[in-house]
Amino acid sequence: MRVRMGSLRLCAGIVASIACLHGQEAWRVHDRDRPNPPVVTPSESTGGAPSDALVLFDGHNLDQFESQQGSPAPWTVADGTFTVKPGSGSIQTKREFGDCQLHAEWASPNPPQGEDQMRGNSGIIIMGLYELQVLDSYNARTYADGQAGAIYGQYPPLVNAAKAPGAWQVYDVIFRRPKFDKTGRLISRARETVIYNGVVVQDATELSGPTAYHNRPPYFPLPEKLPFVLQDHGTPVRYRNIWIRELPPEVEPLPVTSFVPLRPDPAGYVAYAGTYEGEGARLTLTSSGPDLKGELATQTPRGETKSPMELVAMSDDAFTARSLPGADLVRVVFARENNAIKTVTMFHGGHYVTLTRR
Ligand code: MG
Repeated sequence: MRVRMGSLRLCAGIVASIACLHGQEAWRVHDRDRPNPPVVTPSESTGGAPSDALVLFDGHNLDQFESQQGSPAPWTVADGTFTVKPGSGSIQTKREFGDCQLHAEWASPNPPQGEDQMRGNSGIIIMGLYELQVLDSYNARTYADGQAGAIYGQYPPLVNAAKAPGAWQVYDVIFRRPKFDKTGRLISRARETVIYNGVVVQDATELSGPTAYHNRPPYFPLPEKLPFVLQDHGTPVRYRNIWIRELPPEVEPLPVTSFVPLRPDPAGYVAYAGTYEGEGARLTLTSSGPDLKGELATQTPRGETKSPMELVAMSDDAFTARSLPGADLVRVVFARENNAIKTVTMFHGGHYVTLTRR
């Protein structure tokens, strides 16, 4: 008899006791008192700034930027874009940022100028220390950890997603700052995800420290926020449409349910014996010696059907059901309260059903 889990009245009323943590607060699964996240209105245009973004360049002026000496940014604004003024020096944001989502669009000179690292080189240097390389990498050779999409001197991009010189190219960056304890000891590295022209080129990449030419310097303690820098590397790279969103602190990971090795003493199976009911089903389990067997009764339009089950322990509180003629693999997981078995959840074919011990 096939176990027709899909015919059961499946619902999300699981009594999972897995606690989840958000900061210091613990939330039950599907807790309706848990605050919903704030509403952000996305842009109507592709690549446009969402409602909570700080627009750093909207095509008109460089008021959000300054030279690294604090004077007005000397680069050239025209036609809704701005261009690196070679030799004038890098510019930086007036505001400071740490954890952030950054959108920037850039274009290499067309026709191309120079070769290798002098071919349309600029860079987005987050916190003034961690350079995401900007370079004309379209049919152009340079060292891998120095091409477009590279964390400079550390990680090449996963793929080369470059467009031709003159074409507008897009970086979408998710950056997590390095964290230090009160003594200045590094707790977690800077981490950066980069989507380049819609293609993932850095996947939560953990930086070795600040980026540098021919060097990999160590981390050193930093403020939580610092300006980010746009690099003058001597070529007239253009930029447009730059916006940033500050990100909240990272969410604490949920605790995982850790399985212990296979139950060594089958006599322990007696703890699972009993009757479980709910959602139109009844599971009766009996323990006999090294075996844990059961019968699953389900209600169908034609009446009650019964399926024999034999459970094999995969790990503590997790079993696989077998000896079910015609049935696919069924995962059976018990959940406890105060160390006593309270519920059993059966997973099958993407569905699950939770039964409560009677
Ligand atoms: Mg550069």
